[in-house]
Amino acid sequence: MSTKLVILDRDGTINYDRDDYVKSAEEWQPIPGAIEAIARLNHSGWHVVVASNQSGLGRGLFDVGTLNQMHEKMNKLLAAEGGRVDAIFYCPHTPEDHCHCRKPLSGLFQQIGERYSQDLKGVPAVGDSLRDLQACVEQGCEPHLVFTGKGEQFRHVELPKHFPENTQTHHDLSAFVDWLLNKEQLNQDAQESSPKATHGLFRGHR
Ligand SMILES: [Mg+2]
Ligand SMILES: [Zn+2]
Repeated sequence: MSTKLVILDRDGTINYDRDDYVKSAEEWQPIPGAIEAIARLNHSGWHVVVASNQSGLGRGLFDVGTLNQMHEKMNKLLAAEGGRVDAIFYCPHTPEDHCHCRKPLSGLFQQIGERYSQDLKGVPAVGDSLRDLQACVEQGCEPHLVFTGKGEQFRHVELPKHFPENTQTHHDLSAFVDWLLNKEQLNQDAQESSPKATHGLFRGHR
């Protein structure tokens, strides 16, 4: 059986983004409700991984040690809520490096699929910008846009046509988690009340 997996963008999705890059643990500030939302996923058996462009590394704005400090801060906040992320996949390159992992290319998602030995088809992926969704659908993920960070601009307008056709939108990460857990509950209820359940099969033998 495949792992229940959710893939999240970081800046603008979990924490506030900045035009001048998030460059320190101090500047890494969670969006209200985001930490609790990840913990709620975990408590319902979901594994959470992060896929993040971090070109600030390639641009020399901060180093890997500082990036680790940001993630230690996030992990501590998560732990306080009983939550965790399995792993953080990041692209350290700048556009000039022409790598395969910088979103909108799908290298990070490929790496995640390999790590879990799992086809990512239908795996929910959440981001605040077009390139997050482009990268995820390339690997078959289900695209979700949040109206935080760069997504804020789409809150009150129709989504432009160049977004993936099956893009679903949410107020923020917490609203996405409400939606996902609610959908899961509805599916479970439907299975339990289905006439094709075990009872139906046994009836045929009597
Ligand atoms: Mg983002
Ligand atoms: Zn890269």
